[in-house]
Amino acid sequence: MCPFKDALAAAAPGHGAAGFDGDDAYQRSILATVPDGMVAIDSAGHILSFSAAATAMFGYDEADVRGRNVKLLMPQPDRDAHDGYIRRYLETGEARIIGIGRVMSAQRRDGSLFPIELAIGDAHTPQGRVFTGFVRDLTERQNTERRLADLQSEVSHMSRVSAMGSLASALAHELNQPLTAIANYMEGARELLAAPDAERIAMVREAMGEAAAEAIRAGEIVRRLRDFIARGSTEKRVESLRKLVTEANALALTGLGQTAVDMDIRLDPHADRVLVDRIQIQQVLLNLIRNAIEAMQRSPRRRIQIRSVAADNNMVRLSVSDSGPGLSPDIAAHLFEPFRSSKAEGMGLGLSISRGLIEGHGGRIWAEPSDGGGAAFHFTLMRADSEDD
Ligand code: ADP
Repeated sequence: MCPFKDALAAAAPGHGAAGFDGDDAYQRSILATVPDGMVAIDSAGHILSFSAAATAMFGYDEADVRGRNVKLLMPQPDRDAHDGYIRRYLETGEARIIGIGRVMSAQRRDGSLFPIELAIGDAHTPQGRVFTGFVRDLTERQNTERRLADLQSEVSHMSRVSAMGSLASALAHELNQPLTAIANYMEGARELLAAPDAERIAMVREAMGEAAAEAIRAGEIVRRLRDFIARGSTEKRVESLRKLVTEANALALTGLGQTAVDMDIRLDPHADRVLVDRIQIQQVLLNLIRNAIEAMQRSPRRRIQIRSVAADNNMVRLSVSDSGPGLSPDIAAHLFEPFRSSKAEGMGLGLSISRGLIEGHGGRIWAEPSDGGGAAFHFTLMRADSEDD
């Protein structure tokens, strides 16, 4: 050993490299006590060292993982893509994560996923390149949970709860008028029918017509409000779908505790850039992932697949499918309508707002049975780059 000490010196400024010279015991003591998970790898992705905190987080001992490819700590799509990430960085020097840090998902030995914040240091050593990753478990570490909470509060300003609050008060106010009018017309008609004659029946017909018109007006108020909540203000930017999905996924997994969900994400690297309001699209994804998790609560196997594929007309199609019981027929027919819920605590607004958001982006959202018998939700978004990027 050890290229690792140079990486450590590079990744942890403040400790001079000289302090490590020949000091294997010193490295050991750092690995044993550094509060973050610390994983050093070589340029082929092979694990050189694994700290005690990393063992606690991932469930592997250092001896289990030393020499193995670091991708075993990652879920898809990073697992398959990681060798390529290192290669690209070595070839181009273009950092996507090194020196930047980001929130993403990691995979424990038992297959369960958890949200992490990852920062990576890069060092040139006489033995070659060494990358040292510092991993914070965002499910457990209170001080860093705040970062996730920030992200979450960004998302939740469009959340179901606030949507419900504003929708409810606006509805109560706006609907009062047409409902009162309908009640009056009906009451009048009932009285006219007590002693019907031709003239009175004509008046009843007119009252019925007016009542129907008021009912349609009431429906329009509901629709307008929903559109207002859904479209609100949009700020569209070019975003990476991969980053967007990874963050939404990390958010969906927080608070899930140890509930193991097999999360399988495969995204088309050729259709990564989209022109979207990030928070709104994360809101849609979060809603679909949470619905899937809730639907699978009693399923023996809990598997969510997230896929993206390039679609026609410069669109990309995202799919979230689960291995739950599938959509019940009575709900399926009215899936995207507001206030349709099969849950005791459900408000039945998530999907109707999601539809508003996706349509506001020029896309489409629909559901169908998934291959495994569960539900699959698909939506399309406009791509920001051309087909051959
Ligand atoms: P809520 O979650 O508050 O009920 P949503 O609009 O998000 O509101 O969902 C409406 C209904 O659609 C749910 O109550 C549920 O019955 C059904 N649903 C949504 N996603 C799924 C899914 N993945 N599997 C089965 N049913 C689902």
